Amino acid sequence: MDAAIDNGFKPPLKSRNQVVRRLILAFVGLLGLALLIGLLAFLRIAQGLDEREAQQSRFHAQSALTQLQKNERTFLLTHAFWQAAYDHLSGTVDTRWAYDEDNIGASLYSDDGYQGVFVLDDQGTHYAMVDGQLSEQPFAQYTPSSSRIFESAHKAGEQDQAASGYMLFAGQPALFTAAVIRAPSQPHHLPGSRSVLVFVRVLDASLLESLGRSAGLAGFATSASQPAGDGQGMLVLQGSGHVLTWHTEAPGEQLLRTVLPPLALGVLLMLGFVALIARQAMRTSGEIDRGHQQLALSRSALQTSEERFKAVAEAASDWIWETDADLRLSYLSDRFSELTGLQVTAWLGQPVTELLDCDTGKIEHWLQGLAATAATGSLRCQYHDHLGQQRICRLSARAILRDGRCHGYRGTSSDITDEVAAHAQIQHLSLHDALTGLPNRNKLFRYLENSENAKALLMLDLDNFKPINDSLGHPAGDAVLIEVAGRLGRITRDCDLVARLGGDEFIVVLARPGKQPEVDRFCARLVQALEQPMLVEGHTVRIGVSVGVVLASDYPGPASDLIRYADVALLSAKQAGKHTWRYFSAQLNAAVLEKRTLERELREGIDRGELVLHFQPRYSVDGVQVASVEALVRWQHPQHGLMRPDQFIGLAEESDLIVLLGNQVLLDACTSARHWPLAVTVSVNMSPAQFSRSDVVRDVADALRASGLPAHRLELEITEGVMLNDVEGALQTMNALKELGVRLNMDDFGTGYSSLGYLRTYPFDSIKIDKRFIQSLGRSASDRSVVQAIINLGNAMGMTVTAEGVETVEQLALLNDDQCHEVQGFLLSHPLEEGALVLLMQEQMAMLP
Ligand code: C2E
Ligand code: CA
Ligand code: CA
Repeated sequence: MDAAIDNGFKPPLKSRNQVVRRLILAFVGLLGLALLIGLLAFLRIAQGLDEREAQQSRFHAQSALTQLQKNERTFLLTHAFWQAAYDHLSGTVDTRWAYDEDNIGASLYSDDGYQGVFVLDDQGTHYAMVDGQLSEQPFAQYTPSSSRIFESAHKAGEQDQAASGYMLFAGQPALFTAAVIRAPSQPHHLPGSRSVLVFVRVLDASLLESLGRSAGLAGFATSASQPAGDGQGMLVLQGSGHVLTWHTEAPGEQLLRTVLPPLALGVLLMLGFVALIARQAMRTSGEIDRGHQQLALSRSALQTSEERFKAVAEAASDWIWETDADLRLSYLSDRFSELTGLQVTAWLGQPVTELLDCDTGKIEHWLQGLAATAATGSLRCQYHDHLGQQRICRLSARAILRDGRCHGYRGTSSDITDEVAAHAQIQHLSLHDALTGLPNRNKLFRYLENSENAKALLMLDLDNFKPINDSLGHPAGDAVLIEVAGRLGRITRDCDLVARLGGDEFIVVLARPGKQPEVDRFCARLVQALEQPMLVEGHTVRIGVSVGVVLASDYPGPASDLIRYADVALLSAKQAGKHTWRYFSAQLNAAVLEKRTLERELREGIDRGELVLHFQPRYSVDGVQVASVEALVRWQHPQHGLMRPDQFIGLAEESDLIVLLGNQVLLDACTSARHWPLAVTVSVNMSPAQFSRSDVVRDVADALRASGLPAHRLELEITEGVMLNDVEGALQTMNALKELGVRLNMDDFGTGYSSLGYLRTYPFDSIKIDKRFIQSLGRSASDRSVVQAIINLGNAMGMTVTAEGVETVEQLALLNDDQCHEVQGFLLSHPLEEGALVLLMQEQMAMLP
């Protein structure tokens, strides 16, 4: 890349386009200025021309007027400085001489055009001729300036001159000429006649026209007001209140009018031309600018993309590689050496196949396949890092194809060594028991299903394990299990399988068991090995084992069947007194089959409504008042008759049937209780299996809702078994049940291992002392003290204490003495059918006050 990129390329601050725009604006501005100056000069010239023309025309007009007055004065003087006139006009006027003989008569009007001829003196008007007719009116009647004229005539007379000027005559502007009438021989400085001769010539159209002609001007006219218009010359006719006007030429204006339009057009054309050129220039420079910008953009895009690539190449957990067509490495990203510890330089030029290896095929074949399909693929490979350790990587690749030919390959390589290890770990965990590392149930099933050989499957159950676990704690229990696993490993062969199913249940599969005597010998060794005392956390403990054996050669079947058979055999081993082994047999099988049949029948029986409830009342310790009623389930079997729960609850608990059964009992008990005459609590027994296989909170809520029984009238009887399986979960469930509003009763109290601990933690409302303790009351002193202790404990914790299994009056009396709260047993009432229970309740009600 060039310097622009290294320095961080930036586009120029000002684009060419902007510069060109400014130049064009400056040019247009200058042009405009020049045009303006030219126009102003031109206007100035035109104005000068017009002014000169106006001055000249005024001069000509003035000359014409002056000439007129001069002519008039000369003409008047020929009449005023005349002996005959003096003789006939000064003093009294000789009208005959003047008018009749036409010396200053009508011809002055008709030939010379004077509208008025007057003779005046200090006394007044002595002769007046208007429009060629004698008039009786005095001169002052025609003009307001008669005295001014009289005086100016005398003034001019002193120089032997006539006076002339303008005045209004009968309302019209007129030129007057006046002179003193004098004899030519008489010197002017001598006092003579006072008479004045006045000629009046009205400035009418014909006069003005001839005047204009002599001045070389057109449109002569008079007007009382000052003309405002252009193109008119004007002279004031002093004394008349009028002005003389005429048309003037305006050569400047004419010039403007002729020159300006074509000039404007020319300027417009020029501006258009300039605009055109400017636009073209702008467009061109804009294109250049865009080109530059494009270049800058693509440069920075290229730079970004390079940086991105670099960042990805450096940051990725992968390294990037490229080879030529001969698979020789032509590029390796920097991450290569970081991740592999190998040198980039050492590997460039080497075939990629020397670096990487693949278990499942040749890398070169795989790459060729990619070139043929133009696809991207990935392949698991391995290589050795700089320490010689094998690493696993996922190679992804794509052929570099150009013009239909393969020029090499490129791709990435991710290290997946840890991923593969983690995967293997997970795989292992899913198939092995975390505590002992032995195969778990999953692996056992897989093993059983995959091996065809006739095998012996041994199911082990540790005797005495639970007490150790409970008394010494879980860590000790765990240590025992690990020790057992170790011993089992030592007495088995490599081809055998030792698995842990959970708890203290182990399975041993003998791959080549031989005949039964051989298996017997193995079992004897096994029992003996596990009987050896072991040292756990400083304690010497002894456990034992019961073993159920099934020989797959005798009873072939799927893994689940084999395990069930072994389980049956185990049961019989336990029944035989522990520390021994038993084989699964046809007889045992028959028992199993029988159980299966019963299970099927129970399922159908529940559907058919064969379950019935019997009810056993619970009394307050006086033995009179019914405090509560316990529902006890029975199965009305079509062949076997009425069956007790002990005969089928266990069976139901082995499958989900217990959930079906339990929910049926719940619903029936609640529905029944709702119709009892006494609104006492109904107690329903719950199996631990219900807690682990179903959402009992939902089940109970459903039963309450469906039956409409108020929650406080339902009591659930729960045994310790519930707490054994899942301590935390059981606590949560019970709290949730309490939130529903039902009561919780701990059943069979005293039979478990750590009942006291449970009591404190869980939200029980009452305890029921197991009937075992009650039945030995009066016979065993120690049992009585146990009963007393439980009653005290219940009192201390605010719980109701019930004694069940009360069969004798003596037992009842003792319980009464020991202040037990409630009692239940055959002495007071056997479990009753619903009808009998209702009768009992009605009697009870009758007894009440
Ligand atoms: P449990 O909860 O301890 O019930 C008391 C058992 O003792 C009942 O037996 C009852 O009939 C019996 N019994 C009552 N009074 C006396 C007496 O004075 N002396 C003697 N010897 N026995 C007495 P049952 O009805 O056969 O029930 C047996 C067990 O079955 C119950 O023991 C209970 O754990 C279970 N069970 C009963 N009904 C149900 C049920 O609906 N669901 C579940 N999960 N279990 C039930
Ligand atoms: Ca019970
Ligand atoms: Ca009980």
